[in-house]
Amino acid sequence: MHLDIRTGDRRSGCRGTMDPIGIWVKETGEWSILHRCRKCGFIRPNRVSGEDNEILLFALAALPLSRLPFPAGKTLELLASGMSVGGAG
Ligand SMILES: [Zn+2]
Repeated sequence: MHLDIRTGDRRSGCRGTMDPIGIWVKETGEWSILHRCRKCGFIRPNRVSGEDNEILLFALAALPLSRLPFPAGKTLELLASGMSVGGAG
């Protein structure tokens, strides 16, 4: 639930449902789950803890790959051809 303005302060009056929408990986390699408020659109990172479901984390990380905004077949062809597109070949 959307309770905080800053993490832990419980000062937001929104009370909207927070949905997990993705993974954010910091430079340190630490994973955070991004949650977005259904009501106001506020996005908040939550550090991954040992209690988080590994399958959920994997699903969130893989989500963009399952919904590519371009045809995957063409991209795979390009990858297979050594990504020589526009390069000095
Ligand atoms: Zn909200």
